[in-house]
Amino acid sequence: MQRKFTRAIFPGSFDPITNGHLDVIERGRKLFDELIVAVGQSPIKNPLFAPAERVEIISELIKGMSRVSVESFDCLTVEYAKQKDADVILRGLRSLTDFQYEFKLAMTNRAVAGIETIFVMTSAEYGFTSSDLIREIASLGGNIANLVPPIVIRHLEEKYKQLKDDRGEKA
Ligand code: ADP
Repeated sequence: MQRKFTRAIFPGSFDPITNGHLDVIERGRKLFDELIVAVGQSPIKNPLFAPAERVEIISELIKGMSRVSVESFDCLTVEYAKQKDADVILRGLRSLTDFQYEFKLAMTNRAVAGIETIFVMTSAEYGFTSSDLIREIASLGGNIANLVPPIVIRHLEEKYKQLKDDRGEKA
């Protein structure tokens, strides 16, 4: 029997992308014929980076990866998956707390749209890496060199400098 072509989307906020996300992308891309990293424009969260900036950073990082692309989307994840004719939603799992949330989300997405979610477990070294912690550490000038790629560090430094300048504070 011929194997069916599989297209997956990896939706998330990626505000900013971390080594944990990149690890999920690296391992996920081996499972599918095509992987689209999908940057959500969630209006509820108060993002640090605009979707276009997040897409720009991710584009740089996936440059050498064949069959991986990135774009932003502005609708329900399942709607987006349908538009892209995707078969699978890829998500990452770190902890039991992630599991509880992701389980609910995956069940709902399957119930409303019949789409499957496939999970990739975090690598131990990134088990505690999250975008919100990265933002917090970076805003206080801490060292995040092991947790995000250099391009993300540069963007974070620029962003916090710009925010300080906007508030009229000295760097
Ligand atoms: P969302 O706001 O949709 O949760 P995130 O950017 O925070 O978006 O995360 C996107 C996906 O990546 C989620 O499935 C999340 O559990 C997963 N993820 C985030 N950080 C890691 C990590 N360090 N290891 C594995 N998966 C991760």
